[in-house]
Amino acid sequence: MRHHISKDVESQRQFFNSGRTQDLKFRKGLLKKLRTEIIRQENAICDALYADFKKPRFETLIAETQFVLAELNTFIRYLELWARPERVPASLLNFPSSDYIYKEPYGTVLIIAPWNYPFQLTLLPLISAIAAGNTAVLKPSELTPHTSKLINELVASVFDPAHAMVFEGDAVVSKALLEEKWDYIFFTGSTRVGKIVYEKAASNLTPVTLELGGKSPCIVDDSAPVAQAARRIVWGKFLNAGQTCIAPDYILVHASAKARLVEELQKSIRSFFGDDPERSPDLARIISDGHFQRLIGLLEGQQLLSGGQHTAGDRYIAPTLVDEPDKNSKIMKEEIFGPLLPIISFEEEDELDAWISSYGKPLAAYVFSKRSSFQKRILRKHRFGGGVINDTLIHISNKNLPFGGVGQSGLGAYHGKRSFDAFSHKKAIVKRGTWLDLKFRNPPYTLPIGLIKKLKHLL
Ligand code: NAD
Repeated sequence: MRHHISKDVESQRQFFNSGRTQDLKFRKGLLKKLRTEIIRQENAICDALYADFKKPRFETLIAETQFVLAELNTFIRYLELWARPERVPASLLNFPSSDYIYKEPYGTVLIIAPWNYPFQLTLLPLISAIAAGNTAVLKPSELTPHTSKLINELVASVFDPAHAMVFEGDAVVSKALLEEKWDYIFFTGSTRVGKIVYEKAASNLTPVTLELGGKSPCIVDDSAPVAQAARRIVWGKFLNAGQTCIAPDYILVHASAKARLVEELQKSIRSFFGDDPERSPDLARIISDGHFQRLIGLLEGQQLLSGGQHTAGDRYIAPTLVDEPDKNSKIMKEEIFGPLLPIISFEEEDELDAWISSYGKPLAAYVFSKRSSFQKRILRKHRFGGGVINDTLIHISNKNLPFGGVGQSGLGAYHGKRSFDAFSHKKAIVKRGTWLDLKFRNPPYTLPIGLIKKLKHLL
């Protein structure tokens, strides 16, 4: 397999070196072609995601295809502007000069994607890699075979394989790809695999973006409008059956608001998914038997407030509220990534810090509170990728906001222009005038000390 991969990567390198991707019209034309194909195949994409884990069509449209199309529209509209060399103020010390930042593609990039939003998380980095003038090799997840096959066919129908191509397969394929020398690696997935990718990249000093996960807290204080908070939490937690990297992992609620919150959460679950959520068409299934067993295992020894029903054959798990799990229990030791929601009460604000910081720097955090002093306290005290005050997930939907983690939840950020920048090296260029040549910098050095010290004002 290695030989086969090396040959394809070499073809991509040659394609890049041919200079074809330098042409903005060429890049834009391909983005338009990709847009046309996605629009044409939108139903097939919905079907593939349904076949993989019964992702509801509505969720595929808002979080996968339309999300990707919105990004494509933005790139098609702004590509020339973003790609243009950016003039910056020159240093007077270099007078006469004009100074620029050139946005230069890295070269041949590797994109490794996870299964939970398999279309979006493969296509978004592809769009920016191509828009920035790179060639790209994609490795979608093996856990969504229908979607991965469709992505493979879609990419093959739009791109020359020497420009963009897909390798389907599991960790074995991924590891073989990581043996190659890349000019950039964009990885989305678990923190565990992120570390492997980072190590491999380090051996070649390859720059990376790592979009990872973590245990994202959701904090509800006693001033929060509880019914509304519950609706917004239930939406964010059970979308994609909790298999969302920025889903609230667990709730920390002020003890005085807990009973009301639990009641409202249960009410929202019933109103969203009915009395028997298994029959709801709006609840996705767990991605694999392995993850199903892992999640059921997390419930061992836990007190449930509601839910807990499951059907192995269909990989169905009901939206489940878990009461006050012990900090050392399995469910509080790892990222849940499924429809299980632990609810933990606190009395004093200081207790929150111990909970939140014990998981390092999570990918997201959510605060439900009307008190701005409380909101500020959480924002100041804790480091995390991004978040929302009084809602969940929605920070991901604004292309003007960077999306990414920090520490063990990731490295780098993307979306909108930041994606273009992520896949571009910023080359600093000074264009020096020739009509004047001040000689004072040249030996023999004759400038008086007092004047040398003043030069810093010209920098
Ligand atoms: P994963 O890390 O298991 O797999 C991700 C990709 O890496 C897959 O394509 C897989 O084939 C490949 N892979 C697996 N083992 C590998 C190995 N040993 N060497 C090289 N490649 C390997 O993650 P997953 O289960 O697909 O996705 C879930 C995780 O991704 C969660 O932790 C979630 O929080 C995170 N995630 C993060 C974001 C984000 O934007 N930050 C988005 C979605 C998911």
